[in-house]
Formats: sequence, structure tokens, C-alpha cells
Amino acid sequence: MSRRWLFADQLGPHFLDHRHQPVLLIESKAVFRRRAYHRQKAHLVLSALRHRAAELGDQAIFLRTETYRQALRGVREPLEVCHPTSRAALAFVRSLDRVTVLPPRGFVTAVDDFAEWADGRRGALRMEAFYRFARERHRVLVDGDEPVGGRWSPDPENREPPPKGARRLDLPPPPMPTEDDIDAEVRADLDRWEREGIRFVGRDGPRRFPATTREATARLRHFLRHRLTHFGRYADAMLADDPWMAHSALSSAFNLGLLDPVQAVRAAERAYRRDGAPLAAVEGFIRQVLGWRDYVWNLYWYFGRGHPGRDERAGRRSVPAWFRDLDADAVRARCLSDVLGDLREHGWVHHVPRLMVLGNYARQRGWRAAELVDFFHRGFVDGYAWAMTVNAIGLSQYADLDRRPYVAGGAYINRMSDYCGGCRYDPRQRLGADACPFTAGYWALLARDRNRLPPNARMARQLAQLDRLPDVDQVLDQESHRGDQPP
Ligand SMILES: Cc1cc2nc3c(=O)[nH]c(=O)nc-3n(C[C@H](O)[C@H](O)[C@H](O)COP(=O)(O)OP(=O)(O)OC[C@H]3O[C@@H](n4cnc5c(N)ncnc54)[C@H](O)[C@@H]3O)c2cc1C
Ligand code: SF4
Repeated sequence: MSRRWLFADQLGPHFLDHRHQPVLLIESKAVFRRRAYHRQKAHLVLSALRHRAAELGDQAIFLRTETYRQALRGVREPLEVCHPTSRAALAFVRSLDRVTVLPPRGFVTAVDDFAEWADGRRGALRMEAFYRFARERHRVLVDGDEPVGGRWSPDPENREPPPKGARRLDLPPPPMPTEDDIDAEVRADLDRWEREGIRFVGRDGPRRFPATTREATARLRHFLRHRLTHFGRYADAMLADDPWMAHSALSSAFNLGLLDPVQAVRAAERAYRRDGAPLAAVEGFIRQVLGWRDYVWNLYWYFGRGHPGRDERAGRRSVPAWFRDLDADAVRARCLSDVLGDLREHGWVHHVPRLMVLGNYARQRGWRAAELVDFFHRGFVDGYAWAMTVNAIGLSQYADLDRRPYVAGGAYINRMSDYCGGCRYDPRQRLGADACPFTAGYWALLARDRNRLPPNARMARQLAQLDRLPDVDQVLDQESHRGDQPP
């Protein structure tokens, strides 16, 4: 039996064929010299890798070296590896004579099946269509040929603002892992690496995300039992005091390969069929895992290096240091300051702050997409290259993969969050000292980029409104003066 080389995002049992299969694990320090990762992301990845090595014991050779090449020089046997998750890693393993590359694992829809679906649909690769294909192909929430409940997406536009007056959703938070000796060793190593000059962003703190399959499974079970029923309803809402809302906080566990998405999808379906969980919530969660996650993964490989629209719509300005370094204290705009602050403290915020606060602001300011990709990749515990093509570029920056452009002014943030009440700016103002930087930035973006925005009915209405504004030139002046300074 060949030795299976597992990358640090291939750590669950579903990356092995047999319980006793020989394994190779490599911890490369050079990875952390190349990019300034969030300190808690570095901790999570190292902790997960070292926990897996400890679980496997003698079954694994575990090498801690500067580079992968150095480690591989010490292993003489032939190796096999599951298709890695980035183009760079794939090119690397393919360049090695002794290594057999197996198909990818850790996702539901095979890359070839996706390509077959997508061929001939260029320009119309909508997530909803892929999701339906995946439900039919994998027979998820279907009875015979029909979707359970009679519709493929019972309520795709279910986007409620947070409950009035609530500071938090009334839900138990996800269970937190208990740190152990391995975490203590990781923390000491990272402290030492920092003293040696390796740079991280963000702050250290207790580990909040699963590092083992056992911890990940416990979080999934808790989510299905205690939080799933609220999933979806407030998916687009933000509350300053509720970082989790009804989200599962499982993305890093999926992305480290600790949790098999197939099992999670089946378990969610059982929660509906056997335990009576509401269909809308179950379907909403399955849409994220079987739909969005696999769509994002497969498009990364399908598009290859080029993203449609890449050059003509790219921003030209550098991401400023205060944003890159998560300097929340430099920012007075409450939504942005809170989100940057949460990210600095924990290396994670949920989908809407990523899209409608961080990505939205970056798009309004015309920052370079490649630098944003780097920001999201380094700064989030779940950040991986494959997730960037769609999330950080397609949705957040170019808005060319969905019907809606994900740019909005302060009115949207005001409706969907409780940030504006405590802010020194006013979301209704676009001009003057109290002008909300998101509102003013939104109109300035529309005025500046009107010919490069995706043509659709909503945009047409917004552009008609722009044409009626009496003070567009002043707004443009004001925002050009604000520039890339922290708002
Ligand atoms: C700018 C930007 C960058 C992002 N970068 C990443 C990233 O690097 N890695 C990543 O996993 N997600 C990324 N996302 C998607 C999404 O924000 C996170 O998956 C989600 O917030 C994770 O929290 P959760 O586990 O509580 O998700 P939930 O809301 O509970 O969703 C359940 C699961 O569905 C999957 N999922 C849902 N939406 C997406 C999506 N758009 N893309 C991929 N998977 C999805 C995740 O695995 C998630 O755990 C990004 C989104 C944006 C807008
Ligand atoms: S007023 Fe504007 S800057 Fe302040 S919290 Fe609301 S949207 Fe954010």
C-alpha cells in the first residue's frame, strides 16, 4: 500500500482509503515566511496538523522542515496524494516523479462532473442552476424526481433584517474547543517564530475553531440540534454583539478537511426527515454546502487562471496599510471598525460583513482585486485560494457571477444591522461632515464606474436615481478627498 501524503487541509479520515494506511505529513515553516497570515489562522492550521500526527502515531511519518522539498528528500518510498487545493500545489506535486496524484476529495461534486455541466453554459453558470444539478445528481432532498416541498429553492430571497431591538439572536453559541498541550506547543512556537522575524496579522487568542475531526463533528452536531432551525432567516443580517448569528462556523473545519461535506449534507437531510427540522432552514444550509461551497471550488478549477472580466473591471489602487493590518482603531465608521476589529481578534467574521462591509468598501474605493484576494486568504481562518475566484473576485469585486452586484450604501447596512445607531456618521447623508462613507462611496462609485457595472434592472434604477442627484460632483470631490484614508 502506498504512503498517502496528506496536505494540511486534508486531515480527516475521508482522505484515507484504509484505517491503517501509512501516511506522510509535512509541516513547512517557509509557508509562514511567504505571507503574513492571521496569527489565529497559523495556530489553527498547525494545531490541526499536529493533532492529526498525534492521532495517527506510528502510522504517520511527520516531518517539520523549512520546505516541502527538504522533507521529501527524507522519504524514499513512492507516495500518493489527493489532488491539492491550489494551482501552485497541484503544479508542485505533478512535477515530482515519485508522487501519484489522485482525484480531489473533501468536496461533493467531482471536477469532471462540474465541467460536463458547465461546458456549453459559459456566461450562464448560475449557482442556482448548479445547485439543482447537484441535488439531482447526489439525490439530496428529492423524492422521486421532485424536490422535497415542491420547489428547488423554497425561499432564495429570504433576507430578513435582524429582529427589532435584539442585540443577539436567542441561540446558544457554537461549542468552543478546549485547548491542550499541542495548542500550548503551537503557541510557544509561533511566539518564537515572531521573535525570529516571521510576521503575522491579527491578535492571538484562545482557539475558537475545531482542530480535530472529533471537535468538528461535535460542532456540527450541536449546530444541527440547537442552531439549524434559525439558519437562513437572518442570513444577511448583522448584529454588533452577535458575531455568530445562526451561522454554523464550520467553514474552517470543512476547509481543513476535518469534516466531510457529504456527511454534513446527509446529516442535515436527516435532521429534516427524521427529526422534523424546518425544511427552509435545512435546505438553506444544504444550499450553502452542496451548492455554494462546491460551486466556488469547481469554478476555481473550471476558470483556470483567468477570471472573466478580470482586467477591465479591476481596481487600480493599493489596499491601504490600515485595512491590510486590521487597524480597527484608526477607523471611526462603526460598521467597518467593528468588522475589522472582530477580524483582528478572531480571524473570522460571517459572510455578510465580508461581502457588504469589507468587500463593498474595497470595491467603492477601487482597490486592487489581487491584493484583496491576498487579504481574505491570509486574514481568515477559513481563507483558501480556491475560495477566492468566486467570493473575493466574482461576487465581491466584479459582481459578474450573480444577478446582483454586491455594492450598497449606508441605507442597506442600516436596514440589515444595528451598526448605524452608534455611529458618528449618518447613513442618510452623502455630503458634509456627517456623510456616511458607504453612502457617499456608493454614489461616487456609480458615477465613476457607471459603464462598467453589470447591466441589470436594479442597477438601471440606481443609475436613474444617480442622474437625479443635484450634488454628484461635490460627492465625487468629497470622496476623492477622503481617498484611502481610514473613514
Ligand atoms: C469576500 C469573501 C471571501 C470569502 N472567503 C472564503 C474563504 O476563503 N473560504 C470559505 O470557506 N468561505 C469564504 N467565503 C464564504 C463565506 O463567507 C464563508 O464560507 C462563511 O462565512 C463561513 O462561515 P460559516 O461556516 O458559519 O458559514 P455558514 O453560513 O454556516 O454556511 C455553511 C457552510 O457553507 C459553505 N459556504 C457558504 N457560503 C459559501 C461561499 N460563498 N463560498 C464557499 N463556501 C461557502 C461554508 O463551508 C460554510 O461553512 C467568503 C465570502 C466572501 C464574501
Ligand atoms: S452610518 Fe455608515 S459608516 Fe456608520 S455604521 Fe452606518 S453604514 Fe457604517
